[in-house]
Amino acid sequence: MEYGCPVCNGLTTLSLRCPRCAEIMEDGGSLDNYLGPYSPYEEHDLFHMVNNDGYVARCIHLVSCPNCGEDIRLGVQRIPL
Ligand SMILES: [Zn+2]
Ligand SMILES: [Zn+2]
Repeated sequence: MEYGCPVCNGLTTLSLRCPRCAEIMEDGGSLDNYLGPYSPYEEHDLFHMVNNDGYVARCIHLVSCPNCGEDIRLGVQRIPL
């Protein structure tokens, strides 16, 4: 069974409030998108390796506040798709 991030797959959206100013924060996308420009396959292998260990990896999203610039990293639990 494949696991995937429900946010990246459009099943749900993040709607966090900024801890500083309570503005609704914007999902900047998965940190996967920010990783090295030349290793998409390496990363894919890592993902499967982690799953084979019985651990469901989290998809790390960079969430930022458009108002005050606060940003946090949010781990989204990957779910069976
Ligand atoms: Zn994601
Ligand atoms: Zn803010």
